[in-house]
Amino acid sequence: MKLPLKNRSDKRNPSLEERPVPKRRRPKRSKRPAAPRKKREFHFSFLSKISPRLALLILFAVIVVSAGIFILVSTLMEKEKEEAPEYDPQSDFYSEGNKEYEFDIPDVSSGYSYYKFDSSTLVEYTGDVDILSFNQIVAYTSRAFDGDENAKEIDSRSLTAKEFWDVLEALYEKGYIILSPNDIVEETVAFDGSTQIKVKSLLLPKNRIPIVLIFQDLDYSPDSGYADGLIINKNGDIWSQSTDENGNDVLSPELDVITLLDKFVSYHPDFSFNGAKGCIAITGQDGVLGFNTQSSNKDEENRQYEIAYAKAVVSRLKNTGWSFACHTYSHIDIAGSEYTTVVSDITKWVNEVGPIVGSTKVFVYPESDTREAVLPVKEGDTYNYLLDLGFEIFAASGNASALENLGSGSAVLCTYMIFDGYALRYSRDQLLDIVDVASIYDSTVRTNYGTGYTVSTPDTGSDSVDSGTDTTQGSDPGTDSTEDGGGSAE
Ligand SMILES: [Zn+2]
Repeated sequence: MKLPLKNRSDKRNPSLEERPVPKRRRPKRSKRPAAPRKKREFHFSFLSKISPRLALLILFAVIVVSAGIFILVSTLMEKEKEEAPEYDPQSDFYSEGNKEYEFDIPDVSSGYSYYKFDSSTLVEYTGDVDILSFNQIVAYTSRAFDGDENAKEIDSRSLTAKEFWDVLEALYEKGYIILSPNDIVEETVAFDGSTQIKVKSLLLPKNRIPIVLIFQDLDYSPDSGYADGLIINKNGDIWSQSTDENGNDVLSPELDVITLLDKFVSYHPDFSFNGAKGCIAITGQDGVLGFNTQSSNKDEENRQYEIAYAKAVVSRLKNTGWSFACHTYSHIDIAGSEYTTVVSDITKWVNEVGPIVGSTKVFVYPESDTREAVLPVKEGDTYNYLLDLGFEIFAASGNASALENLGSGSAVLCTYMIFDGYALRYSRDQLLDIVDVASIYDSTVRTNYGTGYTVSTPDTGSDSVDSGTDTTQGSDPGTDSTEDGGGSAE
């Protein structure tokens, strides 16, 4: 049964109808019977005129030339094989779904060809690994910073699309290269046969600094200036979707933090190591990536559709370098919660979110769980429970990036630095070794709530304290064409 339109806002997926169905052309059959072929007669009499020696020589030459052509053709074909993008089909998303619903979900099976560094040029990296965490980005600054009661919260939580793009530019310029959290740990087997999880020694391209990007609490509320949701476009790519002031659909890679990073990496493929993008930390109570997959959605038919579509999106993201992490079901404070509370929350995540995002070894503590808060509980029941579920890479917030082995090789703890709107105003010193936030902060769209540093005004170039202007007239990146190849939000 195909779902009627009212069961979900099909604004999210207007490209479905446009998907071209490849037509197969049948070869035309001729109605007339073919004329009988004239037998050709070959005359070999000329051979009798040449010496047997010359004939042998000609035969030999023919064999040599044919062998040469054969080798050339097979080499070319082999080369073509090597360069074809690898594809790992994880397209089981609709086979697991509820069979009584039949969903029309686009194909996500197109390949992902990422930049491959020559392994012989990689060198040992002995420095620190930086770990940053971002929230959703503001696509429409005029909606976000409109002075309503949420404006200040959005200001503190989010970067704008342009600011996020500028951060990526700055990181790339500085030589950073994106790694997946799974790239920075390794499993080894100890003498007693037990598995040890340890921070891995890294081999990286020369002069590059590893960075892990975490994305959490991805919000899809259009009134706050965020994108409406994610869609799979007709090429099988993940794009963001929104509605402009006139009520028209806007489909773009520039409205969402995920799709904007995808776009940046498509311009700078060597920003990504082995194709890695970000690690998305997922809760469950508000659904998954803007899809209403949560059990509190009581419209079961709609929920099944949302689950199936979310699985397709997740599958495509995984195929293009993204990874996923558990972020608890209800964004609970783990260190401050009773063991039983944690178990019931995480059980819900495992049952409801697990089937959508698949298994993961990464557990990103919600922001209130700082490194200092989670370290003392690392040997308690809660920690052992999380280990039993298969988590072995834990991430907690802190003032500086860090990687450390936990216990006796039971897990690795990553400390991430939060890079949000608040950090843009007040964490300049903490982030200075990575990016100077003063060069990122966009005073032309943000209300002047003050900053912890001096802002230089773009028009005069002179320095003045906290000179963010009060204008709230932001421009909307989503209405831009995507051809410029430059910034995201002009
Ligand atoms: Zn969070």
